[in-house]
Amino acid sequence: MVAKNLLILGSTGSIGKSTLEVVDQHPGKFVVRGLAAFSNVELLVQQYHKYKPEALCLVNESKADDLKAALKGEEVKLMFGEQELINFTQFYYVDIVINAVVGAAGLLASLETVKQGRTLAVANKESLVCGGPLFPEILKKTKAKILPIDSEHSAIWQSALAGKENELKNVIITASGGPFRTLPKEQFRQITKAQALDHPTWKMGQKITIDSATLANKGLEVMEAVVLFNIPASKVKVVIHPQSIIHSMVEFNDSSVIAQLSNPDMKLPISYALFWPDRVESPFGALDFTKLPDLSFEEPDLDKFKALKLAFECAKTGGTAPAVFNAANEVAVDAFLKEKIRFTDITRCIDESLQKFNIVSAPNLFDILNADKEARLIAEELIGNQKC
Ligand code: NAD
Ligand code: MG
Repeated sequence: MVAKNLLILGSTGSIGKSTLEVVDQHPGKFVVRGLAAFSNVELLVQQYHKYKPEALCLVNESKADDLKAALKGEEVKLMFGEQELINFTQFYYVDIVINAVVGAAGLLASLETVKQGRTLAVANKESLVCGGPLFPEILKKTKAKILPIDSEHSAIWQSALAGKENELKNVIITASGGPFRTLPKEQFRQITKAQALDHPTWKMGQKITIDSATLANKGLEVMEAVVLFNIPASKVKVVIHPQSIIHSMVEFNDSSVIAQLSNPDMKLPISYALFWPDRVESPFGALDFTKLPDLSFEEPDLDKFKALKLAFECAKTGGTAPAVFNAANEVAVDAFLKEKIRFTDITRCIDESLQKFNIVSAPNLFDILNADKEARLIAEELIGNQKC
């Protein structure tokens, strides 16, 4: 295989670092052409010295001087700011753009990548959720490919290869259930930040860890599946599977179910996306069936985890509803991490923001960006007034 050229957006985060570990595991198979991050100059500089990319992008411009000083005399193109993150995806000679940015901040970079007809390996589920109505037309025009990195969507992608598109009956997304699966609903108000950040099976960035505790993450994944696999929301099911061994399944019209299994390790779906259409020997996530715990399954409790119920509704409604859900959630999670609101307020904020919003059913980019902006204002106001 000829070495593939990579551009990694969000290289300093959990998925970004795991992507670089996959690169390390396979010497000569990948060339890192560019790295982008928000503000972690120290780690970005370390990554620069190790991988020697031609370009770096730092989105937080207030740290620009620090990066310039740290790399004085180095031959590297430096780019700064939000607009440059989008321009960065046009960087010459790249085979795969990996979007591992967190939040809707990754939307325009994802769109630009596919507009250029480039292959997008996407962990940044929020960009698919918000930009859902825009991707089909661009993909039709440019024939760009989107390769999922999210473990559930990688599992669906792999399992779906066992049948034809028109034979697919349902996709079944598994969920660990998060740290509060068995906690009585009455105790949810007392949940602390530290408890919510302690996920039972996955080690991830802070935002997705909180999303996993509210099950908003599963909700985002339902909306992500609708976009990635071009299926109606009615075909997307969620089942709780606390051991996180089956990463998702596909049910065909003959009722056969095909699943993908491994120990939970994001480096496995990352490797699958980077090497696709090949599979390569890899140590990540290997299973010993004789040592597995019992695998169990249960229905999600949509009363206790209302964020998932709201997400199903948004997936069905479509238009700008998913963008509103996402924006309200981002604002509320940020407020929870700053200990300004309670755990239960996160879902309440999503709910009330959705109720206050007029959904546009066939939005263009302007409508989506506007929905994102307005929903943030509504959510901030709700939080400011402590209405949620
Ligand atoms: P993280 O917080 O660890 O890292 C986020 C990265 O995005 C950092 O490199 C940061 O510099 C960058 N970033 C933050 N704000 C930015 C902005 N405004 N503009 C540009 N870059 C910005 O997050 P993570 O856990 O790596 O998650 C990244 C994405 O992958 C999320 O969408 C998440 O839902 C998805 N994901 C993560 C995991 C996981 O195991 N961590 C699994 C599946 C999907
Ligand atoms: Mg996932």
